[in-house]
Amino acid sequence: MSDTPNYGFDTLQIHAGARPDPATGARQTPIYQTTAYVFRDADHAAALFNLQEVGYIYSRLTNPTVAVLQERIATLEGGVGAVCCSSGHAAQIMALFPLMGPGRNVVASTRLYGGTVTQFSQTIKRFGWSAKFVDTDDLEAVKAAIDENTRAVFCESIANPGGYVTDIRALADLADAAGIPLIVDNTSATPYLCRPIEQGATLVVHSTTKYLTGNGTVTGGCIVDSGRFDWSANDKFPSLSAPEPAYHGLKFHETFGSLAYTFHGIAIGLRDLGMTMNPQAAHYTLMGIETLSLRMQRHVENAQKVAAWLEADPRVDYVTYAGLPSSPYYDRVQKCYPKGAGALFTFAVKGGYEACVKLVNALEIFSHVANLGDARSLIIHSASTTHRQLSPEQQEAAGAGPNVVRVSIGIEDAADIIADLDQALAKATA
Ligand SMILES: *Cc1c(COP(=O)(O)O)cnc(C)c1O
Repeated sequence: MSDTPNYGFDTLQIHAGARPDPATGARQTPIYQTTAYVFRDADHAAALFNLQEVGYIYSRLTNPTVAVLQERIATLEGGVGAVCCSSGHAAQIMALFPLMGPGRNVVASTRLYGGTVTQFSQTIKRFGWSAKFVDTDDLEAVKAAIDENTRAVFCESIANPGGYVTDIRALADLADAAGIPLIVDNTSATPYLCRPIEQGATLVVHSTTKYLTGNGTVTGGCIVDSGRFDWSANDKFPSLSAPEPAYHGLKFHETFGSLAYTFHGIAIGLRDLGMTMNPQAAHYTLMGIETLSLRMQRHVENAQKVAAWLEADPRVDYVTYAGLPSSPYYDRVQKCYPKGAGALFTFAVKGGYEACVKLVNALEIFSHVANLGDARSLIIHSASTTHRQLSPEQQEAAGAGPNVVRVSIGIEDAADIIADLDQALAKATA
């Protein structure tokens, strides 16, 4: 089912990219548990290696099960192609890889997943890359941060740890004016709540570990290309516009047009970085993605109820959920995220750090884990876990101060989730 652009989201999340298995007629996508693929003959092998024919060589590069997932996510996001990889963090490195080089920088939002802040502020320096963090609500600051060495702007749509949503269109306009791509991490929103490409993004990255899989079983990542960026409009992206020495001088943009970035991601990115998604992981994510819209509807409905209940509770100082009228981002949600503000938010407990630790210990339905986007409700005290490597200033900027817990509201009965919070808050603030 590849030429079906007019089907609705609910149909595409089940069918896009998949077709009955040509060998057996198997209706569900088989797990192609194989490392290599037999060439028809020597000419076929040569054509595959020359990228003159699309096919399978070796599973570090491509695999039929993973390919179905790639096409499914690309379709749901409205992109021309996608490359899956081993984790969300791998997807971020893979997304930047064709764009960056020593001395180049990415302008990134201060409101990012804690692990991404660490990856961008520390680890990428080993490659000679750097990140400049800015408040993406301050468009003048974003503009001022973009310099001649900037190769991308990076933000999250619905930001982790929650309570903030980005005006993607405004950032896309700035990136366009500077001749650089906007990369949006759409993990927390999923294409059901937000399609960044429709709002002007060039690239979308995902941790498929979260809502796309939705059952907490496997890690994975994905990079989706809008296919709309002109890599040859300036000389900033030689890996795509000029002869690529890592592929015997192939000019990716000239040869593959709108698919240049996707082909580069497979032929160079996966080939040489090796951050490949395995077919088992693709299988679990394909299972999960079939129910994405149903789950996201319930996630949002529950989050809305739980956030409103917490906000009215005297044991809670404040709730940062962009779906509440009290949020400074409420109007932006109505405009840019009309299906809801996701299911991830933070709240501050009266009693600070100590009370947060007691709350986390007393909860029964909620699991205390460093994860989000599971069918189960999850909680974490960010300051003592995911955001622990950050400075106090970075913690505050990311909305993860010591008195704050982050919740990922699951799809259980809302009344049970609320009752669990009620009994645990009683113990935490006794
Ligand atoms: C989890 C997460 C990541 C990292 O993904 P992994 O699959 O854990 O590597 C990146 N961005 C966001 C928003 C996330 O929630």
